[in-house]
Amino acid sequence: MTDGLFVKVASTVKQVRYIFVTGGVASSLGKGVSIASIGALLEARGFSVTIQKMDPYLNIDPGTMSPFQHGEVYVTQDGAETDLDLGYYERFTSAKLSRENSVTTGQIYYTVIERERRGEYLGRTVQVIPHITNEIKNRILSLKRSNPEVDFILVEIGGTVGDIESVPFLEAIRQFRLDVGTENTMYIHLTLVPTITIGGEIKTKPTQHSVKELLKQGIQPDMLICRSTNYLSEEVKEKISLFCNVKKERVISAPDIEHTIYEIPLIFHREHLDDEIIRYFRLEEKSPLFLETMNPMLSKWETVVEHFKKPKGMVKIALVGKYMQLADAYRSLFEALQHGGIANQVRVEMIKLDSEQLTSENAHELLGEADGILVPGGFGERGILGKIIAIRYAREKKIPYFGICLGMQTAVIEFAQNVAGLRGANSTEFETECEHPVISLMEEQLSVTSKGGTMRLGAYPCLVKPHSLLEEAYQKREIYERHRHRYEFNNRYRSLLEGMGLVVSGTSPDSGLVEAIELPRHIHPWFVAVQFHPEFNSRPLDPHPLFVKFIEMAKKKNRSEW
Ligand code: GLN
Repeated sequence: MTDGLFVKVASTVKQVRYIFVTGGVASSLGKGVSIASIGALLEARGFSVTIQKMDPYLNIDPGTMSPFQHGEVYVTQDGAETDLDLGYYERFTSAKLSRENSVTTGQIYYTVIERERRGEYLGRTVQVIPHITNEIKNRILSLKRSNPEVDFILVEIGGTVGDIESVPFLEAIRQFRLDVGTENTMYIHLTLVPTITIGGEIKTKPTQHSVKELLKQGIQPDMLICRSTNYLSEEVKEKISLFCNVKKERVISAPDIEHTIYEIPLIFHREHLDDEIIRYFRLEEKSPLFLETMNPMLSKWETVVEHFKKPKGMVKIALVGKYMQLADAYRSLFEALQHGGIANQVRVEMIKLDSEQLTSENAHELLGEADGILVPGGFGERGILGKIIAIRYAREKKIPYFGICLGMQTAVIEFAQNVAGLRGANSTEFETECEHPVISLMEEQLSVTSKGGTMRLGAYPCLVKPHSLLEEAYQKREIYERHRHRYEFNNRYRSLLEGMGLVVSGTSPDSGLVEAIELPRHIHPWFVAVQFHPEFNSRPLDPHPLFVKFIEMAKKKNRSEW
């Protein structure tokens, strides 16, 4: 009787819990991956989550920032240009993120200032507290309004505690607890526990200082995740617990990983992080419904990790781009290639090549070992020639080729120049007055002058040509993929290039834009290039079909199966 009542209450009144994650001591400790792993664990225990990132910089979004400054720009389904951490959130959880999941100081101030200009503050002085902090809280609550069914909202506060620019965010999450109650909010602080190289001593002082810094903002963390070289000993945990006023069971080790970031949910689980969150929110007492979710279903993650520990083979993929040495600039791409490896049970080794270094003379030396060649997205003229040389090499030597965005545009240019004999073929992005603009500015872009958020962004449908390589990979006739570009295949050249053997295998249903090209099977074993970014839709637990197929073909090449 009582049980029945509890079930009813639990299913009709949806209480959202909020977990705020801050970072201390140093940047780049892996806050994004940590919060994504917490999301994965909560999902494994039957809860639904969404994750929001608060970035303290003044840009409206990272769309206009250089990859050197910011790494990859991750594009959401609804076309927001966001921080790469959102990529981790989507790869680790099944949360569907939108522009509401990405907040920056720039957006907050923009909204408040626009409101002030409209006179909506009715003559009052507009201040950081309460106007900026209210707007920050409003963004968290609006995510709740858009996801009324979600059990947990996880919020990552970008930057490091102690930075001037994150103060309003810390103040807002401090106030948030007052608004929704301690029982519905949890503060997790990610810190560094370094080991002094000489003597191998573990130092807890930076963590103590970082927690003090947080206390100055009025926030006492409920849990600490401690990045360190190895697991923390019980003794070290006790010390941190005592000095930082956090229960010992809630001092979680986050040691360096051995094989892959996909181990992190499992490491956290072994550290009882999910048990402690559930205990903190007293979820096991709430209703029998929750009790049923107490068996973690982590076997899928274990299978993924097992793959990295014992792959059954290896393939080498040459990546030819402009920022190849900057791992974060192509984060989703690198991850998607690994996912393709998981599906094919092979380790994917990447040969990262700076396209500026590639010439016709050294192409064989640099690319001869590759089982697959990939040219990723990019902007600007620098290094284009090297990309075209790599594509020609892939085409002529029958090495599996996968082109993404700029990698499709350059494949079209290469085909036009070297197969169709249009020597003056180029993109107007690199040569405005070129003789054969086979890639040109999209119609809708002609009048666009400002840079921020003005590309063709987000998911669009694409019709797949029957019996094409694209259809073989997707097993579908209509797909949705995310875009981020201004230039397109110039349809004026379509019939000429098709006449020379180029296959247009994907087109947008409304505007007839070319979304994918390929070479026929009798010409080349696997040459596919797409205008969209499939890497944003790949997950370790659900690898993207194009990456699966590309790695499968690279595996065949490696084993000389043709
Ligand atoms: N620079 C090209 C364009 O704007 C390609 C963009 C990309 O690769 N993301 O169309």
